[in-house]
Amino acid sequence: MAQTSDADLVRFSRFLLAPEVTEESLKKLRSSSAVVVGLGGLGCPVALYLAAAGVGQLKLIDADTVDLSNLPRQVLFGPDNCGQNKAQAAATRLSALHPLARIQPIAQAVTSENAQQLLASADLVIDCTDRFASRHVLNEACHALKLPLVIGSALQWSGQLLVVDPRTDALSPNSKGCYACLFPKDQGEPVVDAACGAYGVISTAVGLIGLMQANEALKILMGRPAATGQIWQLETRSLGLEQMRFRPRKGCLVCGRLGKE
Ligand SMILES: [Zn+2]
Repeated sequence: MAQTSDADLVRFSRFLLAPEVTEESLKKLRSSSAVVVGLGGLGCPVALYLAAAGVGQLKLIDADTVDLSNLPRQVLFGPDNCGQNKAQAAATRLSALHPLARIQPIAQAVTSENAQQLLASADLVIDCTDRFASRHVLNEACHALKLPLVIGSALQWSGQLLVVDPRTDALSPNSKGCYACLFPKDQGEPVVDAACGAYGVISTAVGLIGLMQANEALKILMGRPAATGQIWQLETRSLGLEQMRFRPRKGCLVCGRLGKE
C-alpha cells in the first residue's frame, strides 16, 4: 500500500485526530472502490462525502438526466446541468472538487443482466435508487459477489437505512440476513415505490439518509463494523431515530438461509 503523502496528512489532519482513525484507515480509503447506484437526492451527498473523505475510486451509475425539479436536493447539480446525464454531470463536478479520486460515470441503468459485471471490481455498493426493483437486483448481485450493500430510501419527512453484508456466510449464526429476508419479492412492494415524484420529499430528510449511508460506507471501507441486521428509521419532524432489528428469514431465496427463523 502506498505511503500517505504530506499533502494528504495535512488535508486529512482533523480526520486523523478522531478516535479509532489511523493513517492505515486513510490508506484503506485511498485503495478502496465504491459503486454509487443512483445520483439523486441520496446519491449526490453519498458521492460528495465519499470523494471528499478520500475514497480512491468511485463508479457512479445512473441513466437519468438532471431536471430543474431535482436541484433542491440533488446538490451536485446546478441549472447548467439540466438535461445532462446525472452520472456524467456528478463525475465532472466531483473530479473538479477532488482531482485525486478516480471517478467513472456509467450512463445506464443497473439490471439483473448487467449488475454483476458493473459491480464486480468494487469493495462496496451503495443503493441510492429508492426503487424496490433496483434494490432487489442489487441485493441479489451483492450476494453473488459477496459485497456489502448500503441501502437508503426517503419519502416526505422520513427515511430508512439498511446495511446488508453478505461477506458473513449465510449459514453462520452471525449472518444478518438480506433485503429479501425483510421484503420478500413475492410479497409485493413494502412502500410506495420511487414515490418522491408523486408524494414529495424534504431535501434535508433525503440528505440526512444519504449522509448516514456515507457514514456506514466509510466504516465498512475502513474495516470497521457497520450497522448490519437493523433498520434505522429516521423521522425528521420530531428528529427521531428508531432502530428495528430483523433476523435472517428461513428459506430466503437470496441469502440461502436454511437455519432457524
Ligand atoms: Zn435473505
